Amino acid sequence: MAIEAILEQCRALVEDPSSFEAVDRWKAAHPGGRAVGCFPVYSPAELVHAAGMLPVGVFGGGNEIEIAHADSRFQSFICSIIKSTLELGLTGRMKILDGMLFQNICDPARNLASIFKRNFPDMFIEYLHLPQNLGSPRGIEYLAAEYRRVLRALEGWTGQPITDAALRASIGWYNRTRALVRALYQVRAEAPQLLSTVELYTLSRAGVLVGPEAHAQLLEGALATVWDRVVKPKDRLRVVLEGSFCEQPPLGLIEGIEEAGCYILDDDFLLGWRWFSQDVEVDGDPVAALARGYADRSVYSAVKHDLREPKAKHLLDKVRTLKADAVIILAPKFCEPALFDYPLYRKALEEAGILHLFLEFEEKMWIFDRARTEVETFVESMLFD
Ligand code: SF4
Repeated sequence: MAIEAILEQCRALVEDPSSFEAVDRWKAAHPGGRAVGCFPVYSPAELVHAAGMLPVGVFGGGNEIEIAHADSRFQSFICSIIKSTLELGLTGRMKILDGMLFQNICDPARNLASIFKRNFPDMFIEYLHLPQNLGSPRGIEYLAAEYRRVLRALEGWTGQPITDAALRASIGWYNRTRALVRALYQVRAEAPQLLSTVELYTLSRAGVLVGPEAHAQLLEGALATVWDRVVKPKDRLRVVLEGSFCEQPPLGLIEGIEEAGCYILDDDFLLGWRWFSQDVEVDGDPVAALARGYADRSVYSAVKHDLREPKAKHLLDKVRTLKADAVIILAPKFCEPALFDYPLYRKALEEAGILHLFLEFEEKMWIFDRARTEVETFVESMLFD
């Protein structure tokens, strides 16, 4: 199948994040099967998959739902994904999900987990405490213990044991999809005219709904035909995008940035589903391998507390390796982890003489003219300097 047909399939899957139609279909094909929502950034989908369930990426309601009930449970100055995820639950749109996984990425996510637990007593809710000090040798040990705790909770819920063999197989599936996504990211970095960021995002996001087996097929098809495309490169600014690791920007905004004259060479969209920069080991103790992978084979992130190397160094390395011209920081409004990192990134970029543009977004954005004009002005100031 040509990449265009695959993209059409993926677009249909991801267009309305509040419908979970793909999960409905999975359940129809797996009678009695359970689906567990994974709140960003990194939820260990492998644990859920090894229990025979479907891990589902939950990224709020996008700009498809009105917030009518969730406002009463949260303060006003809070990012959109928190409110729209709760709204999905309060309006019954998440009934298809049997459980949810959250982690300690920020205060709002922690509170959301508690609110879910209180408001949806029939749901399986787990809150994962990811390590706050990866510099300590105890960090990996601690994380493995956390994973084991969640595994035991899943076993208690289903009454079925989760074997090491099942967990190794699940790690293998996610290794495969992550490697394919990495390969597509590489295509875009080398020849961004062949695969737009909106297309790459659509291909990646479909995977958080259909499970790794079906996702691998879609990605393999896309990878096999993407080089058949014949598209002339345009004179555009080559940028790295940073800041959207949790809440996802509206597709129209990503499209607007590209149309304003940018080739996006790298981004941090859907970061938790691409968490490992290399395969997780599949030999030996799979829980320990996942924990080691989290500490030593994973991407940098505002929500990963790793003081061994400054995050800004990783951003600069990325810019240099990809020979990017500039950086766009695209952060969700009221996202503390993203906003705490911004001054560090800004300082490092300024010291390195790399220009950047800071933009904020919300899920409910419908009109992208202002952001587009800002990007156009930024691009023109650099291309025609
Ligand atoms: S967008 Fe930022 S503040 Fe909101 S849940 Fe995600 S990490 Fe937390």
